[in-house]
Amino acid sequence: MQPFTGSFTQQEPIPEDAISAAVEVMRSGRLHRYNTVGDELGAAAELEKAYAAYQGSKYCLACTSGGYAMQTALRALGIGAGDRVLTNGFTLAPVPGAIAGVGAEAVLVEITADLVLDLDDLEAKIKAVAPKAMLLSNMRGHLCDMDALCGVLETHGVPLIEDCAHTMGASWNGKKSGSFGIAGCFSTQTYKHLNSGEGGFLTSDDAEFIARAIMLSGSYMLYERHGAAPPAEVFTDIRLDTPNMSGRMDNLRASILLTQLSQLETNIDRWNARHDLIADRLRGVNSVYVPHRPEEERYVGSSFQFLMPDATPEMMQQVVHGAKALGVELKWFGADSPVGFTSNHQSWRYVPAQTLPKTDAILAGLLDMRIPLTFSLEDCAHVADIIAHVVGRVTQKGAA
Ligand SMILES: *Cc1c(COP(=O)(O)O)cnc(C)c1O
Repeated sequence: MQPFTGSFTQQEPIPEDAISAAVEVMRSGRLHRYNTVGDELGAAAELEKAYAAYQGSKYCLACTSGGYAMQTALRALGIGAGDRVLTNGFTLAPVPGAIAGVGAEAVLVEITADLVLDLDDLEAKIKAVAPKAMLLSNMRGHLCDMDALCGVLETHGVPLIEDCAHTMGASWNGKKSGSFGIAGCFSTQTYKHLNSGEGGFLTSDDAEFIARAIMLSGSYMLYERHGAAPPAEVFTDIRLDTPNMSGRMDNLRASILLTQLSQLETNIDRWNARHDLIADRLRGVNSVYVPHRPEEERYVGSSFQFLMPDATPEMMQQVVHGAKALGVELKWFGADSPVGFTSNHQSWRYVPAQTLPKTDAILAGLLDMRIPLTFSLEDCAHVADIIAHVVGRVTQKGAA
C-alpha cells in the first residue's frame, strides 16, 4: 500500500478577494468594530447582517470565538453558579468549558451509536436534575431528531442553546441548525467551516436575549452600530444592568469572513463529495459501522467518523498506529489520556464525574478524521483504501 502524503491540518489559503478586503481594512487603520466614519457600517456589522441573512435568523452577534458565543448565550439566559446545564457526553472541551465558565454544572447525556443525543436518557436526566438549559452539541456534524428533541425540551420547559461549531450550513427538515432554540453558537476558528483564525457568531430571534448578549460582548453604548440587532428601545432596560465582558469581533477578521461566507455553499458541496466518497468505500468493510444519516438531515461532511464496535483497545491502537504509518491521521476517542484536540468526559475533571456506560462503550470504538478541502477526491479514495486495508489487517490478526 502506497503511503498517503497529504496534510490533515492544511487548510486552503484565504481567498484573494478576502486578502484584498483585509488589506483595505488595515490601510484604513479602523480595525475596531466601532471605529466607523459617518453612516459607514464596519465590516463586523456587515458580517452580522450577512450571517443573519444566511442563517435566516433575525439577529446575529459577531464575537471572538465559538466558546465565547456559548458562554455569552448561557449568561444572557441568566444561568450562573449552581445551575445545572445538560450537554452531550460526547463533545469537545470548549462545551463543558463554557458551562464551567458561568459557574454552572454540566450534566452529561448519553449518546447513541449514530453519535447523537440519546433522547431517553435526556428525558430521564431532565426529571432527575431540573436543568436550567440544554447546550446541545451537534458534535462532528451529527444532528439528532431535532423535532423529537424540541418536543421533549418544550414539554419540560427547558430552553435550548445549540453548539453549531460543526453544523454551520447544516439543516434538519429544511430548517437551519442553530434555529431550533433560543440561540445558535458558531465558530470561525481555522478548523471549522469559515476561517478567521479565531471568531464566532451568536444568532437568535429573541430581541431581549440578543440585546443582553450584545451588551455582554462589550458594546459600551454603541449597540446601534450593530448590523443585525434589535432597535435601541429594546436596550433601554438592559443597558445599565448588563456587565461588559469584552469579546467583540474586529473588522479585520470580519473582512476575511465576509467573502468566505459567499463561498460556503460551494464548499459544503465540496466537503460532502469528499465525505460521501470515503463513507461509501468504508460502509461495506467488515467490522466497521458508519453512522446512519437520516433523510431529514443535511449535513456538512467536514470530518468523518466510523466505529469498530467489537474491537479491543489493543486493536484500536493498532488501527491508529497502522493508519499513521501510512500517513492517515485517525483520532481515537477511547484513549485513556487526551491527545491534541481530542478528549473524553473522563478528562474533564472540573465537571463532577458521571457514569455514562453507553457513551463510553461507543467512544471505545470510535475513530474520527478531518477532511480538509485541500484533499482531492483521489486523495480521499486513497485515504479510504488505507483505512480499509489497515482495519482488515488488524481484524484478521485479531480473529487468528
Ligand atoms: C471548536 C468547537 C467549539 C468552539 O470553538 P472555539 O474554538 O471556541 O471557536 C465548540 N464546540 C465544538 C464541538 C467545537 O469543535
